[in-house]
Amino acid sequence: MATRRLYYDDSYQRDFSAEVLSCEPELHGSTPAWGVVLDCTALYPTSGGQPHDLGKLGDANVLDARDDGEDVVHVVDRQLPLGSVAGCVDWARRFDHMQQHTGQHLLSAMFQERYGRPTVSFHLGVDVCTIDLRGPEPAEEVLEGAERAANQVISEDRPITVRYGTVEQFAELGVRKEVLRSGMLRAIEIEGADLQPCGGTHVKSTAQIGVILVRRSSKMRQDWRVEFVCGKRAARVARHDFQVLHKSAELLGSAADDVPIAVERAINERDGHFKTVKLLWQRLAESDAATVLQAAKPAENGLCVITRTFDETTQPEYLGHFAAQLAKSEKTVALLSGSADGHLIFAQHPAAGKDMNALLKQVLAQFAGKGGGTRDFARGKLNDATQAEEAVAFARQLLIPG
Ligand SMILES: [Zn+2]
Repeated sequence: MATRRLYYDDSYQRDFSAEVLSCEPELHGSTPAWGVVLDCTALYPTSGGQPHDLGKLGDANVLDARDDGEDVVHVVDRQLPLGSVAGCVDWARRFDHMQQHTGQHLLSAMFQERYGRPTVSFHLGVDVCTIDLRGPEPAEEVLEGAERAANQVISEDRPITVRYGTVEQFAELGVRKEVLRSGMLRAIEIEGADLQPCGGTHVKSTAQIGVILVRRSSKMRQDWRVEFVCGKRAARVARHDFQVLHKSAELLGSAADDVPIAVERAINERDGHFKTVKLLWQRLAESDAATVLQAAKPAENGLCVITRTFDETTQPEYLGHFAAQLAKSEKTVALLSGSADGHLIFAQHPAAGKDMNALLKQVLAQFAGKGGGTRDFARGKLNDATQAEEAVAFARQLLIPG
């Protein structure tokens, strides 16, 4: 015997009485629960893109509701005795679903009617709803145009009714959706706007959708996914968007309308500063290298080896410039490290005649890390940054033994 679905005839029915026909233990996730089949129900099971209802059966909380063939299985958190039970629907959740779902019918109809864009799927999410449109990317005016047309129908408060008929009867009325099931069909009619086979729950007039707010579209395989929200959700989303805009304007010290200009200006300034800072690090490296070279004294073997370990206040790119400047000086070798990230840079003037890559490999054999380079310039990174100073001292020892 199939569960009689009370919401088919009255989607506004919140309370009902039913007979518990079976109550079997099952798992809800990993929690023990019971699967209950009733003779009739006002609770909607997950299907057609609309999530299941919540509610109560007696003292038991409904955790899930699903289709099982012609039956609806209600997953509840405690065992129910066979016999009569009073049921109720979590109305806030259901009405929200009805607003979103009916809004989807209307919005899809507007995309189809105005722009010839068929909807291929629908999803009602916790925060946003989506429809997937077949065809090319919908332009901004298509999204806005469909939204405007749908809101016009909402403001006209048109009745929404349930109709029953055969496939042939609906085909004559121009029902465009391909129908796979035979026999009597249930369809939802938005007066003068849409007729669509559907087993879901809907509001009874377009005004109850409240408002439709289309947000953005994004590519989803061969289709375009359009996000939208209806009713209270739309108000909540618009309020949230305003708060984000207001906060951004406050931080930028601009009017809300000027946020894009202010952001563009801030980005240009940031990019400009970035270039300047790079240049300043380079100049500083040149100047520091000149000072260091003036004071440097060659070792007995004629090599001038300069070792330095820098802390986190020095940018890694400074090390590169500094090393390159030092290595311009005859027979000079620069052995640099950063104590913040374990960065190593070994550079030499070609006439110094050593091999920086081989030297780095020797150091990395002693201190764990990775890196490599050429005969004159090698770059590496220690696994343990606290060994930065020790590592360059070790490298120096290899170049000037004793
Ligand atoms: Zn529907």
